[in-house]
Amino acid sequence: MYRTKTCGELRLADINQTVTLAGWVQRSRKLGGMTFVDLRDRYGITQLTFNQEVNAALCEQANKLGREFVIQVTGTVSERAAKNTHLPTGEIEIIVSELNILHTAATPPFTIEEESDGGDDIRMQYRYLDLRRPNVRKNLELRHKMAFEVRRYLDEQGFLEVETPILIKSTPEGARDFVVPSRMNPGQFYALPQSPQTLKQLLMVSGFDRYFQIAKCFRDEDLRADRQPEFTQVDCEMSFVEQEDILQLFEGLMKHLFKYIKGIDMTEPFPRMLWSDAMKYYGSDKPDIRFGMRFVELKDLTEGRNFGVFDSALYVAGICAEGCASYTRKQLDGLTDFVKRPQIGAKGLVYVRCEADGSFKSSVDKFYSQDDLKSWATRFGAQPGDLLLILCGEPAKTRKALGELRLEMGNRLGLRDKNTFAPLWVIDFPMFEWDDETSRFYAMHHPFTSPKQEDLDLLETDPGQVRANAYDMVINGVELGGGSIRIHDSELQDRMFRILGFTEEQAHEQFGFLMDAFKYGAPPHGGLAFGLDRMVSMFAGLDSIRDCIAFPKNNSGRDMMLDAPSEIADAQLDELNLAVEIKKK
Ligand code: ASP
Repeated sequence: MYRTKTCGELRLADINQTVTLAGWVQRSRKLGGMTFVDLRDRYGITQLTFNQEVNAALCEQANKLGREFVIQVTGTVSERAAKNTHLPTGEIEIIVSELNILHTAATPPFTIEEESDGGDDIRMQYRYLDLRRPNVRKNLELRHKMAFEVRRYLDEQGFLEVETPILIKSTPEGARDFVVPSRMNPGQFYALPQSPQTLKQLLMVSGFDRYFQIAKCFRDEDLRADRQPEFTQVDCEMSFVEQEDILQLFEGLMKHLFKYIKGIDMTEPFPRMLWSDAMKYYGSDKPDIRFGMRFVELKDLTEGRNFGVFDSALYVAGICAEGCASYTRKQLDGLTDFVKRPQIGAKGLVYVRCEADGSFKSSVDKFYSQDDLKSWATRFGAQPGDLLLILCGEPAKTRKALGELRLEMGNRLGLRDKNTFAPLWVIDFPMFEWDDETSRFYAMHHPFTSPKQEDLDLLETDPGQVRANAYDMVINGVELGGGSIRIHDSELQDRMFRILGFTEEQAHEQFGFLMDAFKYGAPPHGGLAFGLDRMVSMFAGLDSIRDCIAFPKNNSGRDMMLDAPSEIADAQLDELNLAVEIKKK
């Protein structure tokens, strides 16, 4: 046997036992005639002790151990004189009688510690070493638990896990496809699924009723902290249900996960917010409702005082930062710089300090009287000591900028605690999104989403006003999942494709298989998908989903360890009947 115990399990109760352990050398230190080695495995760290006076040869051997050597030791569990209260095994040590080096190790390029000295790139290049760090390992353990609990809950609810193919035809979710050339069909390509969307709908036509899959999805998008080119969805679909059934069932899933993974009982129903309210009060379709600071609109109160900037703006609104009237000039300039960043795009920031004596001080004192400013403060419900921060401009852009400012203030005021969880459903998303660049409407969710019955008449006349039976689950400002009730009537689906600018041929070419299937009897159905990576990183309190993925890609979509993507051999290209010519952009 390589080992009789792990490095995480021995306690005072095990004293005097003879045990064999195996693992990696975390560190070793020499103190007089004693040598101490910390031995690490997946389960923890145990201290090994070698005594020069008892066994000089063995101690000599121990002194030669380098970091990350793989060793096996046999010895006796004994009580430690100097106990380490930070380690679960800190009350014992092993007095080693036998040492066996199973493998030596080159010096690792960074320290294998919770707080490593290795930068991102080097840790990704040697990700197998990075994964030895206990905090990274814990994230993967949490991920396992999450997948396990998802399966347990959905199984209890009668869901079947069905695998769907990875080599498919393009599925439109609004991103670019990754494609794979086919050797047997020269010049033709498979697409990797952006999600199993159409396949799960076909499973509903097949009568599967309650489907789920922990599915790999692929989207060729620009990357951010919460995006990877390949990611994992908990993908679900149900038949003979209405939106309410779906919201209930999957709210149940989230509560189950909080209970069994974080030990948090969420007893209250998740609040529901109309998409239009989310935009109006938070400037975002994924509002962080851990804190208030809702937008207050001021346009009507600001007019007619010859302040051109406000007068010419279609939208004037702000937030009230409680207790921030004491902000210095420098702090206010900092906030102005923040909103002027190109990615936020505001032109400037107007502030009003609500002073302790009931008066007001603002950057627009020249144009507005104390009474004017008081009427603004009253609308905000502001108290003396509060600070009003106001933006103006084109409504959609300004709401977005104000939303960013709100989050920034939330951060500065410590209102976004990672251990507080504020879930909600955002519902009634618009069906379409207008794209200025291409001058056409796109499906905001995807083309299979059903419009609200009461908005059907607007489909052709005023598409921008049509609402969809679509919903997102949002926690702490992160969209964890989203879905919709689907169109299950071929005629309405045809109509939708027409509005989205597909010719009949294009629609048939791309989605003929789905439309044909519906002709054979499609049940009413709907579903949603959760981002597993996002759920794990939220539960683990991580800043990037990368940290909960065993082998992630970097921001340029590269796997630094495998050095992928890479060129392929001419022979491989020949087999594929392909020649590579890189076009200059
Ligand atoms: N396929 C959708 C997505 O990936 C989710 C759904 O509608 O079920 O966003």
